Amino acid sequence: DATTTLSLRLLPYSDDLWLLVARDVSRLLQLEQMRRDFVANVSHELRTPLTVLHGYLDMLDPSEQPEWAPMLEEMQRQSTRMTQLVEDLLTLSRLESRADLPAEETVPMSGMLAALRREALALGQGRHTVDVEDRAGVDLHGSPRELHSAFSNLVANAVRYTPEGGRVLIVFDHESDGEAGDGVSLSVTDTGPGIPAVHLPRLTERFYRVSNSRSRETGGTGLGLSIVKHVLALHQARLDIRSEVGVGSTFSCHFGAARVRDRLPLEQSA
Ligand code: ADP
Repeated sequence: DATTTLSLRLLPYSDDLWLLVARDVSRLLQLEQMRRDFVANVSHELRTPLTVLHGYLDMLDPSEQPEWAPMLEEMQRQSTRMTQLVEDLLTLSRLESRADLPAEETVPMSGMLAALRREALALGQGRHTVDVEDRAGVDLHGSPRELHSAFSNLVANAVRYTPEGGRVLIVFDHESDGEAGDGVSLSVTDTGPGIPAVHLPRLTERFYRVSNSRSRETGGTGLGLSIVKHVLALHQARLDIRSEVGVGSTFSCHFGAARVRDRLPLEQSA
């Protein structure tokens, strides 16, 4: 190919000698691109047949054949899950293939926080306490669609892994960011089971799960936190996970000062 990509490493060899190791990673990058394209194409192709299956399943009336009801219900559940998986794979492919965000705008955060609260209550069917604290009173600059998908993945996890009667707290706050000025953070805290420390470094890997059976039961796809990681990277933001087994977890997204915008007066009064 016309372009070659080299990975360079400088290693200390002796007191006054350094070793420069150059490795041709062009082929590796090419394979990685092929993998991404393949996943994106397969996901895209699966969409139509799934929509058809889902549509016909919805039309079947269990009252005509009552003994089929549990099977129909299970088929609907599984086809919903597969649809979610395909959607998440497509989202991840879209995020991976991008070096930056296509269109950025000011994202009104009071609307965002209200939407997250509604989603948490709907998903948990009112079985949790959901609190939102807007201490920052500013807005973010970025992609509304991607940011919403990242935050709502964190909120969905908090609800799904927290047993009935637990609490989910969403806090949007100022954060001192040293020389760069003040940044902000959005954090989601739950009173769920917590995550053992050994798992934390690998949590944002695709399909990585702490406990398979429990995670499957909760209806997740195993892609949520990878999506979060990619969205934050595109916003030069960072994900921080703190968790204590038996106490709960906090997932916080840290945004630098460059991502902060004064809140529009219209929204403040709303
Ligand atoms: P999933 O769809 O399985 O939830 P994620 O990528 O969103 O996939 O999360 C990866 C794994 O991290 C989950 O399977 C779960 O084991 C763990 N996890 C994520 N969020 C929480 C949480 N709030 N409390 C406990 N465990 C969590």
